[in-house]
Amino acid sequence: MFQKILIANRGEIALRVLRACRELGIASVAVHSTADADAMHVRLADESVCIGPPLARDSYLNMPAIISAALITGAEAIHPGYGFLSENAAFAEMVEAHNLVFIGPTAQHIRMMGDKITAKTTMEALKVPLVPGSPGELASLEEARAVAGRIMYPVLIKAAAGGGGRGMKVARSAGELEAAWREARAEAAAAFGNNAVYMEKYLDKPRHIELQVLADNYGEVVHIGERDCSLQRRHQKVLEEAGSPVITAAQRDELGKTVTTALKKIGYRNAGTLEFLYQDGQFAFIEMNTRLQVEHPVSEAISGIDLVREQIRIAAGEPLGYKQDDVEFSGHAIECRITAEDPETFAPSPGRVDVFHPPGGLGVRVDSALYAGYRVPPHYDSLIAKLVTHGRTREEAIARMKRALREFVITGIKTTIPLHQRILEAPDFVAGDYTIHWLERFVAG
Ligand code: ADP
Repeated sequence: MFQKILIANRGEIALRVLRACRELGIASVAVHSTADADAMHVRLADESVCIGPPLARDSYLNMPAIISAALITGAEAIHPGYGFLSENAAFAEMVEAHNLVFIGPTAQHIRMMGDKITAKTTMEALKVPLVPGSPGELASLEEARAVAGRIMYPVLIKAAAGGGGRGMKVARSAGELEAAWREARAEAAAAFGNNAVYMEKYLDKPRHIELQVLADNYGEVVHIGERDCSLQRRHQKVLEEAGSPVITAAQRDELGKTVTTALKKIGYRNAGTLEFLYQDGQFAFIEMNTRLQVEHPVSEAISGIDLVREQIRIAAGEPLGYKQDDVEFSGHAIECRITAEDPETFAPSPGRVDVFHPPGGLGVRVDSALYAGYRVPPHYDSLIAKLVTHGRTREEAIARMKRALREFVITGIKTTIPLHQRILEAPDFVAGDYTIHWLERFVAG
């Protein structure tokens, strides 16, 4: 096992990784920008290194600075968290080239899944069902027209290098195709430096359901159940549940078999998530994330498995030590992503936190790096807290979430707590009756 790990991230996820390190008896090194000198992850880590100015590209994305920090402090491995360098194959290679361990999959698998077209063709060959679409990159507007004619409108043009819901444009009819094609390519070029796009049928009422997997270096692959992440705004997740209110144990088993068989064939390692759209009883693969996800705590709640601990153990070369039949699920869990935003307009609301009083009690987990007096910097993601509740049933998890949201006090900045309170009261949500388009309408209405 490692003696010391560098955490190449900030905020709640840096704390999350730090907690796993401490429970494993591993020393932790925090890295931080000058804007984060007072951040909680810096305060709690055993050591810390300043890696640059506030802008992420100069600090949290600064590969040489992060590698140097690891070498100077004698860390043996780097955990990238999510976002920043977590899905950067060149970074994983650079880490390994310095005889450090990247806590995640191999650079080859990161690259394979980072290009969504390659990811889809790989999964198709492994008999994982896909959303109907173009067989690969769209070479021209004419090809886009031809594919759309075949799969029928509405269609979605998506960036091959996409992420965070960017570079994605809907064309509802032939008249809208040219604009969608141009806008998606321009957005993809600006956001990812790569204007390759592909096409998918735009599904009108899907749910977003994803499967968490863990794979060791010796061919053991297990799934840790599904998460329903259909409540989204601008293609970004807002509230997640495990399990999905609409999936049966038999469906979970079947999807799990398809996915674990596929990942065994490609020799995948460490944690990963396969994302699917689910409509009319059918699953269709959209992408794979080769990292820890923001919403991983709901899977931890229902399985009792510490996913970060497992990532570290796997990276250190330990076998998983259990099989699919040993993974048991209990109860239901919900996560509310609380952001520093106006709950009506979604305008960012960085600034000083005056009061921070997190909820507690049975079945409540708060992952947050906030404290009273902390200044939420304007430079980074607006996520400030993840509130997770677990109950024996979905009803219990909902009741507990309502209670916990009421207890949660954050003053000085605006937060989306009131939005979550409204969602939790909505009859459609309580009935589990929602698709990926539901929240957008709820917020607008
Ligand atoms: P990103 O990597 O940018 O997050 P994804 O491919 O994961 O992109 O898609 C993000 C979200 O966009 C999905 O969860 C879903 O809500 C929506 N989406 C993606 N593909 C489709 C599709 N073919 N039809 C309808 N909605 C889609």
